[in-house]
Amino acid sequence: MTSNSTTELDHLLSRALTDIAAADDSAAVEQLRVALLGRQGAVTTQLKQIGAQPPEARKEFGAAVNRVRDQLTDALSARADAVLAAERQAAIAAEEIDVTLPGRVGHSGSLHPVTRTLRRIEQIFTRAGFDVAHGPEIEDDFHNFEALNIPKNHPARAMHDTFYVSDETVLRTHTSPVQIRYLESHTPPVAVIAPGRVYRCDSDVTHTPMFHQVEGLMVDSNVSFADLKGALVFFLEEFFERDLPVRFRPSFFPFTEPSAEVDMGCVFCEGKGCRICGHSGWIEVLGCGMVHTEVFRQVGIDNEEFTGYAFGLGIERLAMLRYGVDDLRLFFENEISFLRQFS
Ligand SMILES: [Zn+2]
Repeated sequence: MTSNSTTELDHLLSRALTDIAAADDSAAVEQLRVALLGRQGAVTTQLKQIGAQPPEARKEFGAAVNRVRDQLTDALSARADAVLAAERQAAIAAEEIDVTLPGRVGHSGSLHPVTRTLRRIEQIFTRAGFDVAHGPEIEDDFHNFEALNIPKNHPARAMHDTFYVSDETVLRTHTSPVQIRYLESHTPPVAVIAPGRVYRCDSDVTHTPMFHQVEGLMVDSNVSFADLKGALVFFLEEFFERDLPVRFRPSFFPFTEPSAEVDMGCVFCEGKGCRICGHSGWIEVLGCGMVHTEVFRQVGIDNEEFTGYAFGLGIERLAMLRYGVDDLRLFFENEISFLRQFS
């Protein structure tokens, strides 16, 4: 064996050990294995040289090359294990689940504030003995206007901003036609509320083209304005869950006589005056009156024997007052952060 060959082997070994120690991932280790021990590898090349040595040096050189090969095989294997362990550790750390973090909770849905308000109104009136009735939203002229003492060319029609489907058919402008339909099919005594959608050709901060109303009707012998007042005060105090001052102002509706608009003490400032009540301490909440004799005549009820009261209120308006919402349009924009506040 020549000293030249031995020196070459020593260099190969020390360089390879340095490279192995520096290999910092599995791919690098594998690359070194191929470069050293692969078919064309540096050590393999040395092994092939054994036969080329002079016979007297062959044994010693062969033993030296084999030692280098075994040493490098062990070093590569140890490095591969170490690198793999480190890689697994890193992968585990990257996927670690922190069990102390709060979980992601699914949101449960909630009823729309208009639906909640409507159900609350229905609950209060059904507890007081009222029926709940429904009617068509596409209504004929007779039920929406004529039978309610609003003949053609009556100036009150101008107040309604009506959507006409045809000359004789409209999208109902109020829920009052349901009281006509109810009286056509029931004989007094009756006590009924009629909630539902109504339509007006109107849109701004306080008006939307579609909104919800509740119509109330009570017909019996000897129904008086005092009964009307009692029913409405009862309702408002139940709805707002507090004692409220209530006042009636004379007004005009074609289908009631006398007619009144009802104000209640402002629920925001307790009557002291604020922006919402226009600094008056009062908030207008509904319209009402004693059923007009002409309405009774239209549905064939004897107005000598029976009297009745009727009232109508806006559901969105009550929802705004109850929840402190100041823009009507919020109810119809389906803004999820707004709606979640009611769950
Ligand atoms: Zn106020």
